[in-house]
Amino acid sequence: MKLTFPHMGDFWVVLRAVLDELGLDTVVPPPSSKRTVTLGTRYAPETACFPLKLCLGNMLEAIDMGADAVLMAGGSGPCRFGYYAQVEKQALWDLGKRVDFHLLEPPQTHPGELLASLRALLGRRYSRVPRALRIGWEKALACDEVLRQSLPLRAHEDLPGVTSHLYSKAIRAVDEASSTGSIRRAVNAFTEEAAAHARPQAGGRALRIGLIGEIFMIMDRFASAGIEEKLGRLGAIVDRKMTITGWVRTHLFPWPWKRVPVPDPVKSARPYLNHFVGGDGVESVGHTVLGAKERLDGMVHLLPFTCMPEIVAKSILPQVTQDLGIPVLSLSLDEHTGEAGLMTRLEAFVDLLGARKEATSR
Ligand code: SF4
Repeated sequence: MKLTFPHMGDFWVVLRAVLDELGLDTVVPPPSSKRTVTLGTRYAPETACFPLKLCLGNMLEAIDMGADAVLMAGGSGPCRFGYYAQVEKQALWDLGKRVDFHLLEPPQTHPGELLASLRALLGRRYSRVPRALRIGWEKALACDEVLRQSLPLRAHEDLPGVTSHLYSKAIRAVDEASSTGSIRRAVNAFTEEAAAHARPQAGGRALRIGLIGEIFMIMDRFASAGIEEKLGRLGAIVDRKMTITGWVRTHLFPWPWKRVPVPDPVKSARPYLNHFVGGDGVESVGHTVLGAKERLDGMVHLLPFTCMPEIVAKSILPQVTQDLGIPVLSLSLDEHTGEAGLMTRLEAFVDLLGARKEATSR
């Protein structure tokens, strides 16, 4: 069996580490590109969400490289994520690509199905699980640390694009690392090289902009059209709460992390939205409330075109803006997103936030 999985930002690094450690053969698809989008949009239903199309494109590219099985997360609730794997499997089978699907359903709602999938996947490899999870977790922490350091740095880099270059280099080093020591060295090397490219900050006047929205769009730089780089280039520091370890803590293993002292976006959203609407809709509202409390200058809200939970959030966010005075720019992205149009809207938003900040600091 040669197992593949979608990229979803740097999540592939963690997945490959865990699966390799378990002794499973993996095929990582090439980085998402225009070809990925073309393949995904050609064979997915037209109105499917953009992340589904990218995942399908990733799978098709990996199957061309020899993959014969797919690992996917399952889901439940009001949005379409619960059908993702079925739609993708059908699309692949219609093309004559009869790959096996290994579906990891959420432990909270489908524990039995999750265990059955894990049993089928792991066979007799149970003894390898602790080390696999440990190395996967170390790599997840390392990817998040590189991300955390890169966000403020982009607004102060001395060479345009150098942070993104160092970031990719660091993620490759984390991927290739085979021990805790080499993972740490990869992060330390990034810290040192990045520090050498940081310009002195101009009196802490950079705008701080929160990034919220559907998880795939936030985590995957290709899906988000490089929004972090674009905002960084405009001199803004991006504040992004959604990370790999955050996702694992919230969605896969929520129980042991209850004492982690971070503000809960679900609770913060309650005055505006107090029930689950699927995906990350509630979190988008909650993070905007928290962003206002943290005195962020504004929020950029990313949603895939037709994303139901984020449409709900989008309809509520103007009220949050009115009550708490935090500006929000909602951007709906898909395969038709044009670079120039996106950049123009971001530039206008950053200009407005800059003028607002100056007016209020007088
Ligand atoms: S959250 Fe939105 S984009 Fe993601 S699966 Fe649900 S509807 Fe689609």
